[in-house]
Amino acid sequence: MAKILCVLYDDPSTGYPKSYARDEIPAITRYPGGQTAPTPKAIDFTPGELLGSVSGELGLRSFLESQGHTLVVTSDKDGDGSILDRELPDTDVVISQPFWPAYLTAERIAKAPNLKLAITAGIGSDHVDLDAAIEHGVTVAEVTYCNSISVAEHVVMMILGLVRNYIPSYQVVVNGGWNIADCVQRSYDLEGMHVGTVAAGRIGTAVLRRLAPFDVNLHYTDRHRLPESVERELNLTFHTSAAEMVPHCDVVTINAPLHPETEGLFGEKLLATMKRGSYLINTARAKIADRDAVVKALESGQLAGYAGDVWYPQPAPADHPWRTMPNHGMTPHISGSSLSAQARYAAGTREILESWLAGTPIRDEYLIVDGGRLAGTGAHSYSTRM
Ligand code: NDP
Repeated sequence: MAKILCVLYDDPSTGYPKSYARDEIPAITRYPGGQTAPTPKAIDFTPGELLGSVSGELGLRSFLESQGHTLVVTSDKDGDGSILDRELPDTDVVISQPFWPAYLTAERIAKAPNLKLAITAGIGSDHVDLDAAIEHGVTVAEVTYCNSISVAEHVVMMILGLVRNYIPSYQVVVNGGWNIADCVQRSYDLEGMHVGTVAAGRIGTAVLRRLAPFDVNLHYTDRHRLPESVERELNLTFHTSAAEMVPHCDVVTINAPLHPETEGLFGEKLLATMKRGSYLINTARAKIADRDAVVKALESGQLAGYAGDVWYPQPAPADHPWRTMPNHGMTPHISGSSLSAQARYAAGTREILESWLAGTPIRDEYLIVDGGRLAGTGAHSYSTRM
C-alpha cells in the first residue's frame, strides 16, 4: 500500500466555500492540437469546486483510501520540522502544485528513500531537483496542457492591463477620484505594437493566437521552430534567441520552463537591450528574470511595466521588492489555478495515480523524468545540469 503526501495551498481565509459564483464550467475534452484532456476512470468531485486547497484534497481521498492507500494532505511545507519534512521519509508519492510548491531539493530527495513518484498537479516541475530525481530513480510527471490556456488568458489580461494602465485607473475609481489625466498619462493602445514570446510551446503559441486579432506584430523565439503554416497564418517573425528578439519588441512575454538554459535569462544585460519603455510579462517562473535587475529597470523607466504571477520563493515574503516596485501588475501565483484549471489538473493527477498504482504506463506527454532520464515532455522542453 502506498503513502501519498499531497501539499496544497491553504483554504480561503473565509473558510472552504459552501457555494460558488457560477453553477457550472465548460467541459473541455480536447486541447488545441488534439491532445485529450485527462481521462481518469472516474472522478469524485464536481468540476468547478475548489480542489487545489487543503480541504479540496484534489478530490483524491475516497479513491485512494478505498484501495487501502494512505493520503496525507498539508500546506505546511517550509521551515524546520514542517509536516512535509516529517512525513517525507516513508512517503511513496509526493503531489504538489507550482502555486504552493513543495520544493523537492536534492537534500529532501535523499531523505526520502521510498519516494518513487513526484506529481506536479499543474505544469512546471522546476520545484523538483530533476538531476536528483534522475539519480534516485524518481519518476516526475505533470499534467501537461491542463492550465496552458488558463495562463495564456492571464498573459493577455496582463499585457492589456499594463499597456492600457488598467490597475492604477481602477484604483482611482476605488479611491473616489476622477482625474482622467492621472489615468491616461501612462495609457497606450496595443494595436501596432511588436509583441514577442520567449518560447512558443503550448502557452506561448496560445498567447500568439489570442493576440493576433489585436493587429499587433508578432515575434517568437524557441528551441524548435513552429511549422511554416503556423508562422504564415499568424504572420510571425522568428528569432534565433531572446537576445536577438527583444530589441525589436514593445512587449515581451516569457513562456519557457525554468531550467539551466533559462535561469537568469532576463538579467541587467538583456533588459538593457530592450526598447526603453517596454513591458515584460512573466507568468513562467520568477528565476528566469533577475529579481533586482527587474526592480532597477522599472525604477529607471527602462521597463514601463512588469507583470506576472511567479515569485521566488513561494509564498513570497512580505518584503519581496516585487510587491512595491513601481508600475507592476503582479498577482500571487494564480493564473494556472482557476477553478476551470483545477478540474483538469485534479483529474490529470488522478489519471497519473491510476496508471502508476496499476503498474501501467503514464501518458508519455505527462512525463518529465522517468527511468533515470528526462522523458516525454521533459525530454523535449527541459535540460539538466549534467
Ligand atoms: P510547453 O512544454 O508546451 O512549452 C515550453 C516551451 O518552452 C517549449 O516550446 C520549449 O521548446 C520552450 N523552451 C524551452 N527552453 C527554451 C529556451 N532555452 N529558449 C526558448 N524556448 C525554450 O509548456 P507550457 O507552454 O505549457 O508551459 C511553459 C511554462 O509555463 C511551464 O514550464 C511553467 O514553468 C510555466 N507555467 C506557469 C503557470 C502559472 O500558473 N503561472 C502554469 C503553467 C505553466 P521546445 O520544446 O521546442 O524545445
